[in-house]
Amino acid sequence: MNNRIYNIAIVGFGGMGSYHCQLIEPVSQISVIGVYDTVEYRMELGKEAGYKTYASLDAVLTDELVDIVLIATPNDVHKEIAIQALQAGKHVICEKPVTITSKDFDDIVKVANEEKRVFTVHQNRRWDEDFLTTKDIIDKKTLGELFHLESRVQGANGIPGDWRQLKDYGGGMLLDWGVHLLDQLLQITDSQIESVAANLSYILGTEVDDGFTSYITFKDGLTALIEVGTTNYVKLPRWYLKGTEGTAVIRDWDLSGEIITRNPDVAHIEPKPIQAGQGLTKTMAPPSEQSTLKFAIEKPELKEQSFYENFVSVLEGKSEIAIKNDEVHRVLVLIETIFEAAETKSVIHRII
Ligand code: NAD
Repeated sequence: MNNRIYNIAIVGFGGMGSYHCQLIEPVSQISVIGVYDTVEYRMELGKEAGYKTYASLDAVLTDELVDIVLIATPNDVHKEIAIQALQAGKHVICEKPVTITSKDFDDIVKVANEEKRVFTVHQNRRWDEDFLTTKDIIDKKTLGELFHLESRVQGANGIPGDWRQLKDYGGGMLLDWGVHLLDQLLQITDSQIESVAANLSYILGTEVDDGFTSYITFKDGLTALIEVGTTNYVKLPRWYLKGTEGTAVIRDWDLSGEIITRNPDVAHIEPKPIQAGQGLTKTMAPPSEQSTLKFAIEKPELKEQSFYENFVSVLEGKSEIAIKNDEVHRVLVLIETIFEAAETKSVIHRII
């Protein structure tokens, strides 16, 4: 068994940089060797946590003990740090959104290929239980053929922090939560995107979007509604799935929700009309209990490898990388298309 330990240096020791220490902790083959941050207070926190602190990015990159650089700075400087780190011979993990444009991302990948270093992006929400559950329901065809899905995250706390509210830093919710939801969406289907419509919201008056809604259609007929909101005092369910045989709702990250399908053993039963407002309706009456089956949401099987276990395995030539660069590129092209659709107030017909 190979027991080589890979040393990782964290560049940007803020909220997410420090959280990575918890993610790395259980992985015996990676050790946090040190941290670098441009803010003295964050360096002090690194020191208190027992890590070596570097005086500059250059000091990180010239430390021969560093095998991997993790970039957890604001989004605008990911590219320059990534390229410098790769050129210094380091493997690189970068936080999402990896870059603001797909072109910037391609520039990084080119250097990674030239330097023969591993470069990947921390799309950690591919490991989220609600996403894995959703994917499981879809893959097992519990609802028959999926024809529509809605994926949302909604809060009422506005855009957090400082740099997330500023365009120059790559702020805004499309680049923040949007990149997660869109990355998950593109893992759900192999079909190509055909059209994109979108609206960005600026309710809070910031220079960047405080949320967005996008309606995306795929070649195979699937439609998707993706929504991020920061001004929602009452929120809609995290996932809503419609298939030819049933419907599922996953209300929150705690996996509350239900699946209701047609009962294949019962012939169609005419619903009784119900009083609805000032009228009667049969169309909107609930289906009879005998004609449907109800299932609880079940916890999915977790992925075999965590993000970091996969990364080590890739360095040792034993696994394929979990987050592939062409997948990341595609998500960035989709984000660019959503910006374009919102700015031009038009539906963009484009194969993505
Ligand atoms: P943050 O503001 O809490 O931390 C960023 C840190 O980077 C700060 O301490 C800042 O001083 C430091 N910094 C800024 N410029 C630097 C530079 N040039 N060199 C070194 N340090 C620098 O922000 P955060 O919430 O930790 O976000 C950091 C990154 O992580 C962003 O890209 C964000 O999108 C991402 N993020 C990802 C997730 C996720 O779930 N994957 C969650 C939160 C944040």
